[in-house]
Amino acid sequence: MKSFAIVIGSANKDKARELERLLADFKVKVLTLADFPNAPKVIENGRTFEANACKKARAYSKLSDHLTLADDSGLCVRALNNRPGVYSARFAGPGCNYLDNNKKLLRLLAGKATSKRSAFFCSTIALYQRGKKIKVLKGICSGRIADSMKGAHGFGFDPVFIPSGSKKTFAQMTPAQKNQISHRARALSATKAFLKKHLF
Ligand code: IMP
Repeated sequence: MKSFAIVIGSANKDKARELERLLADFKVKVLTLADFPNAPKVIENGRTFEANACKKARAYSKLSDHLTLADDSGLCVRALNNRPGVYSARFAGPGCNYLDNNKKLLRLLAGKATSKRSAFFCSTIALYQRGKKIKVLKGICSGRIADSMKGAHGFGFDPVFIPSGSKKTFAQMTPAQKNQISHRARALSATKAFLKKHLF
């Protein structure tokens, strides 16, 4: 395998940490936006995960000659017409935090039976180099929204999301357990397979 560097183009430190962990077994040098203090702020105003992932990867790929990866992700809740979707980070309004978002979601689903609480996480990863698109890859993790917040690991909607086949929320799992089944792990595993086949 050639020596290679990948830039993780994510301003969300929780997501960047997960992506870094997921790339740990891959023999590449991993750089993050912390290595590029002058990185521009990218406004995520696309209507799809793919549009936002591409916008971030394209902008950050211009900061170096390295392969650059950006993930756009979110939670889609069936009973809410797949909201919050691309608006996951700012679901509860400008300046909101993870707790505000979880509380809003639980409030909107209050009283709904388990069968009406289906949801899925989606991660779209865009790979760019020097402003040019190389590939877009996707990963999904299906599950349901819990009745209350549980667990202290992870970030975002992890305390309220129970993946299919589990009784625990993502936040009740260790990072290693979440990383075996998460949407991001699946998108990144497809990304690694693509890179091994086409670039190394
Ligand atoms: P992005 O930075 O625009 O992709 O926003 C992602 C948002 O989606 C986060 O702020 C979380 O609210 C949510 N999200 C994405 N992936 C996860 C995850 O793995 N766990 C919990 N929440 C997530």
